[in-house]
Amino acid sequence: MSSVTVTLLPGDGIGTEVSSAAKEVLTETGVPIEWEVVEAGEACIEKYGTPLPEHVLESIKRNKVALKGPITTPVGKGFRSVNVTLRQSLGLYANVRPLRTLENVPSRYTNVDMVIVRENTEDLYAGVEHKVGRDAAESIKIITREASERIGRYAFELAKRQGRKKVTIVHKANIMKLSDGLFLESIRHIAESFPEIVCEDKIVDALCMNLVQQPEQFDVLVLPNLYGDIVSDLGAGLIGGLGVAPGANIGEDGAVFEAVHGSAPQIAGKNEANPLAMILSGAEMLEHLGYNDHASQVRKAIDSVLVNRELLTKDLGGNAGTREFAASICKAI
Ligand code: NAD
Repeated sequence: MSSVTVTLLPGDGIGTEVSSAAKEVLTETGVPIEWEVVEAGEACIEKYGTPLPEHVLESIKRNKVALKGPITTPVGKGFRSVNVTLRQSLGLYANVRPLRTLENVPSRYTNVDMVIVRENTEDLYAGVEHKVGRDAAESIKIITREASERIGRYAFELAKRQGRKKVTIVHKANIMKLSDGLFLESIRHIAESFPEIVCEDKIVDALCMNLVQQPEQFDVLVLPNLYGDIVSDLGAGLIGGLGVAPGANIGEDGAVFEAVHGSAPQIAGKNEANPLAMILSGAEMLEHLGYNDHASQVRKAIDSVLVNRELLTKDLGGNAGTREFAASICKAI
């Protein structure tokens, strides 16, 4: 089997701990991956003058696939978010977050199996904002037909590929008639090319209530950037928390796989972080690369370890550390 080179961005905070766990587990399967490790984030500023040095972008562009740990974004000051800049400069227009109930992970729900497809390049995250005098500020919400149709097509194609039955377009077009209205109209247009898949739409606030009451009714959700960001954390809560929610940022020319969670500074360096979200992101990456058997080894090993509460991290009700949890998964492979 030919080997591939993958860019590994360990990130900061708990990022370094969970990325190292994920790398160990993936390597244990014998998958032929060469890792090209690069750094980004605040720690790079002194050395490179930027938290996202050009060689990091170059590495991802060259390899076309990256596994990335979370990176801290300082609030209200300094450089733009590395995460947002990375997605925009690499054209990673689809943020894909599968939400699947894992047996033996404590949660109020049992049958969750959906995919959140979030538009990743525009909306209020386009970074167009300014002060108006001293006491007001404006952030501009940008929605285009092109980006809405592109994410809509991605959502329907994903539904078709995965044998899913329904796509729900999420919006607030009753209030933001022009911007969210355009998002809705553009995706409804795309839906016409996929008659075998049911297309429905929901207003984002009603969706949140429905998700909490009966998440099993949803299959694929497609959302503009901001709602997608918020709803995917809600979704993580349906399957046992941020510690188990994987994700990917996909574009025409590359893909960056990362957990939904952030750098969790409160628990960083304490060997307490749950590495599962990052390991599952790694499994998604293996599937993207066509290493389906290796991915399935990882998933089976996780399922077998989850049976024993003692081997799990604190957030899952156990008392193992990040390293010990990862070691148990490696042992089960
Ligand atoms: P967070 O996801 O880091 O943490 C939220 C809560 O979940 C905390 O209580 C944390 O301890 C817990 N948690 C998160 N991941 C966990 C894990 N693997 N195991 C156990 N518990 C876990 O969110 P935040 O506190 O809002 O953000 C912290 C920093 O991360 C911010 O600077 C933010 O900008 C950044 N962030 C980065 C990314 C990314 O790199 N993609 C994503 C989200 C947030």
